[in-house]
Amino acid sequence: MGLWQDLRAGWHTRREAAAVNRRPIPDKLWRRTLKRFPFLSTGDPQDEQQLRRLTSLFLDRKEFSGAHGLEITDDMAVAIAAQACLPVLRMGLGAYDGFVGIVVHPGQAVVQRERVDDDGVVHVVEEELSGETVQGGPVMLSWRDVRASGATAQDGYNVVIHEFAHVLDLADGLPDGCPLLPPQLSKPRWLADMHKAYDEFCRQVGAEEDTELDPYGATGIDEFFAVASETYFTQPDALRRAFAQVYGLLDAYYRPSAGTPGE
Ligand SMILES: [Zn+2]
Repeated sequence: MGLWQDLRAGWHTRREAAAVNRRPIPDKLWRRTLKRFPFLSTGDPQDEQQLRRLTSLFLDRKEFSGAHGLEITDDMAVAIAAQACLPVLRMGLGAYDGFVGIVVHPGQAVVQRERVDDDGVVHVVEEELSGETVQGGPVMLSWRDVRASGATAQDGYNVVIHEFAHVLDLADGLPDGCPLLPPQLSKPRWLADMHKAYDEFCRQVGAEEDTELDPYGATGIDEFFAVASETYFTQPDALRRAFAQVYGLLDAYYRPSAGTPGE
């Protein structure tokens, strides 16, 4: 590493330390957050320290706003930021550089969508959303659903991880169920394995079988990736039982064992 890089690395570290100091998370608030959302704890003290640091950086870099007069409290911001940082614990916050804003609704947002029926007739239908992600942001979340995440984790459901999995998937502009992969993972292999599991999952859902994953994952390969990611972080054993191959892919992507913690 040359002198310039040394200086730059030093500057980078100092700038980050300043950002963490600007947004320190008080001990009580942090402990409260871990208690409310137990799946945030991996049991590894180093992971927990890294999660807390990333959460501070996330709060420093992203902008929260409340819809319909909702006031964003520190508890709410930390709850969302910590859950959003869980998937990028190893890869770092750079993976979320593509957006800045997070809009929090008090409950599910009602949006109007156009649907084309089998006869080609366009209908305007109302849809209720607990979250939504569009490329470049903002990320929309329903606070009622975020708040319930501690309890809904037992069903493998987590709206924050779901939406941020979409952010990762969309990093290359394509909602194809494949995020930007590190060099050790092959995209053709990833897509082949994901599609194989997705086809089987669609068959199970079509046959109305009981599934370990949310049947919503059968609405598209991008939703399958998001739903599998939620389950990976909240009910990993369920994902391993249902789709061991997908579990292996997500584990290699989210938690590369040889990786050093990202920024
Ligand atoms: Zn989705």
